Amino acid sequence: MTAPTSTETLADTLHGRLLRPGDDAFARAATPWNLAVRQRVDAVVEAADADDVAATVRFARAAGHAVAAQSTGHGATGEADGTILLRTGRLDHVEVDRAARVARVGAGARWADVQAAAAPHGLTGLLGSAPGVGVAGYTLGGGLGWFSRVFGLAADHVRSIDVVDAEGTPRTVDATRDPDLFWALRGAGGDLAVVTALELGLEPVPAFAGGRTVWPARRAGEVLAVYREVTAAAPRELSLWLSRVEAPGAPAVVVLHAAFLGDAATARDLLSPFAAVGDAVAHEIGPVALDAVGGITADPTDPAAGRSRAELLTGVDSGAVEHLFTSPVAPLLMLQLRHLGGALAEPGPGAGALGAVTEPYLLYGFGLAFEPGISTAVGDRLARLTHDLDGVASGRKPVTFLAPGERAAAAFDAPTLARLQDLKRARDPQGTVRGNHPLLG
Ligand SMILES: Cc1cc2nc3c(=O)[nH]c(=O)nc-3n(C[C@H](O)[C@H](O)[C@H](O)COP(=O)(O)OP(=O)(O)OC[C@H]3O[C@@H](n4cnc5c(N)ncnc54)[C@H](O)[C@@H]3O)c2cc1C
Repeated sequence: MTAPTSTETLADTLHGRLLRPGDDAFARAATPWNLAVRQRVDAVVEAADADDVAATVRFARAAGHAVAAQSTGHGATGEADGTILLRTGRLDHVEVDRAARVARVGAGARWADVQAAAAPHGLTGLLGSAPGVGVAGYTLGGGLGWFSRVFGLAADHVRSIDVVDAEGTPRTVDATRDPDLFWALRGAGGDLAVVTALELGLEPVPAFAGGRTVWPARRAGEVLAVYREVTAAAPRELSLWLSRVEAPGAPAVVVLHAAFLGDAATARDLLSPFAAVGDAVAHEIGPVALDAVGGITADPTDPAAGRSRAELLTGVDSGAVEHLFTSPVAPLLMLQLRHLGGALAEPGPGAGALGAVTEPYLLYGFGLAFEPGISTAVGDRLARLTHDLDGVASGRKPVTFLAPGERAAAAFDAPTLARLQDLKRARDPQGTVRGNHPLLG
């Protein structure tokens, strides 16, 4: 296959379209879901199919350019600057094979698309809190959500991946066809190849329940104390996330989000110790349909400007965590603790690059960043979180929780990082493919 030699010939080759700065639709196409990240890309290709992806990678390689793949832009970091942005949103097909418990998913599909197709069969994908997030970016970065304590990372449930490699060649990788690349793509992000489709294992979940309980923030210390006890003994079917939320103009609250792979009555029993904390202003636990999982946290669906930082924690018993939760979080909107453990700590032998997540909790801080002054204040507060955690942060974090500017190195131990970097040098010596958290540098 020959490479298009100019943007004009690339544009003529495409079934989708190529947009350049100055074109009417360019600014919109170059804007990611996270509006806090300004992307200064050289061109945007809206791919209509895998052939468009291959033509774009071949053109970039021949021209000494780079491509950055993006479906929604939830994970935008600024690394796409100076690249050809390859938008995959039109590759959004989803096919479910009920008998094989597999979904074949285009690289532009979102979790909502997968859940809509899988839920009628009593099957679920291993999505996170927000169904609007793209399957590809989430899964390539590990993917950690409500089902992880039972089933592990989404990345470890991938059966095969269709890619266009850094030479522009379309091929399928799996446990036997290029196992090195298959291993790396499952957890190390999108820095090694452009994905055009994935085959995902689905899991049967006959009953699922969830909901939330809300208290005024003055109860934060008591809620945290119960949270420590309940999570320490929780069956892996139960996942609890505890947030301190301070929305502008609203009273500060503490919110317990719960998900349970089982019936609502058992979920209520498991949550009964929280009844000892008075003053709950809302308490809703009930059955949740597998295509309504996003309703548990009701994350924003429209594009928003936000900054975040996450840390994996070795525990939540420390005074430092208590201090964080019982103190105002402003200028942040939220601090959230996620209980991990279970299958996350015990990946199978064929697991991807992220390996075991042995830390039992994750702390996630988030602030809105609609204007520069607030964005700076939020960034400063997030930067102090590690210090405030006073040694409770392990220093490692999954790729999907890396913030702009954080390097892939933060997700891996030294031997794993070295293996990934060797692979990057061998497979993409020109740096034709650029992920949002590059493996080198
Ligand atoms: C509201 C919200 C809720 C979230 N909840 C969770 C959660 O519960 N659990 C969790 O683990 N994460 C969560 N995340 C993080 C999210 O998983 C990452 O930001 C992820 O990268 C988003 O994937 P995307 O495809 O939507 O984003 P994009 O920005 O489109 O993609 C992110 C990166 O993935 C890579 N990529 C995407 N498509 C391709 C492709 N076709 N080929 C090669 N590389 C590709 C690229 O490097 C790209 O820069 C959340 C994020 C937000 C904003």
